[in-house]
Amino acid sequence: MKKVLLIGTGGTIASELSGEGLIPVLTTGQLLSYVPEISSLCDVDCIQLFSVDSTNITPQHWLLLVQAIREAYDCYDGFVICHGTDTMAYTAAALSYLIQGSPKPIVLTGAQKPIVFDSTDSKTNLRDSFLCATSSLCGVMVVFNGKVIAGTRAKKTRTKSFEAFSSINYPDLAHLQDGYLIEYIRLACYEKPVFYDTLNDRVGLMKLIPGTESDLLEYHLGRSDALIIESFGVGGLPSYQDSAMQKLLRKAVDCGKTIVLTTQVENEGSNVSVYNVGFRLKSDLRLLEGFDMTTEALVAKLMWILGQTKDPGKIRKLFYTPVDNDMLVIKDC
Ligand code: ASP
Repeated sequence: MKKVLLIGTGGTIASELSGEGLIPVLTTGQLLSYVPEISSLCDVDCIQLFSVDSTNITPQHWLLLVQAIREAYDCYDGFVICHGTDTMAYTAAALSYLIQGSPKPIVLTGAQKPIVFDSTDSKTNLRDSFLCATSSLCGVMVVFNGKVIAGTRAKKTRTKSFEAFSSINYPDLAHLQDGYLIEYIRLACYEKPVFYDTLNDRVGLMKLIPGTESDLLEYHLGRSDALIIESFGVGGLPSYQDSAMQKLLRKAVDCGKTIVLTTQVENEGSNVSVYNVGFRLKSDLRLLEGFDMTTEALVAKLMWILGQTKDPGKIRKLFYTPVDNDMLVIKDC
């Protein structure tokens, strides 16, 4: 029988109602007792790494998860991580960069309703996750509401309904129906995974709104080694205020900072060369472009890359090297 390690981190799935809202209190052992049929699928060991609402997740928690999986890797056939849904897409992306090419499935799941509620998606998601963790799927994935989504492509797109996650700009890897796994795409894997244990969390994100002033950009640049700018549509930067933003960005890039231009539109990605407001940005300012990557994956990829190198040439090369199909449209890079 296969062996799976269940790792608890908190989230709604493990929450109970308190007088002041939901709090994650259930352990992984308690979660498992709600889905007894899992014991006929595999042998399960449980660890409780931490118990937090995923609003409180930080990059340090990602490193703890990597360490736990690395230490246990050879003893198990697959891993299931119970996680809050709010930042699960960030954690899934982070694990995709920090544990590359895993031939064993590393599954993140959670729920919109606690397992202790009468009406809950917890049990289905947990059972489906174990079906994936005992399958021949590989790499990091999110399993939620019958979908299997590549860790680099997941995004929380609904706050309340069970269909909480979507795969952005990429098809689902597989679907689960009535206890069956229907597989479409398999992520590439190596014989053994490559683990990374360093991140640089000095990565910032700035979303443009009409009228954003350059002072805000200056503030962000002052506290980040890499800054992601979510601009409008296919991408561009305002040229008002005498192009103050462009001047600030040129100075920042000259000082070795990494700037990525992406879009705040959820689907179809950026193409900054289309409009005059973006046309010269990449050639003049040496900005990187997010193309079809999710913002969650951009954040995690930059933290991973900047944890490995400060060299702008190497940063550019790693940025445009796809990991787990995080980026498909790569032009003039
Ligand atoms: N706030 C919760 C969390 O992210 C939401 C959830 O798990 O669904 O931990």
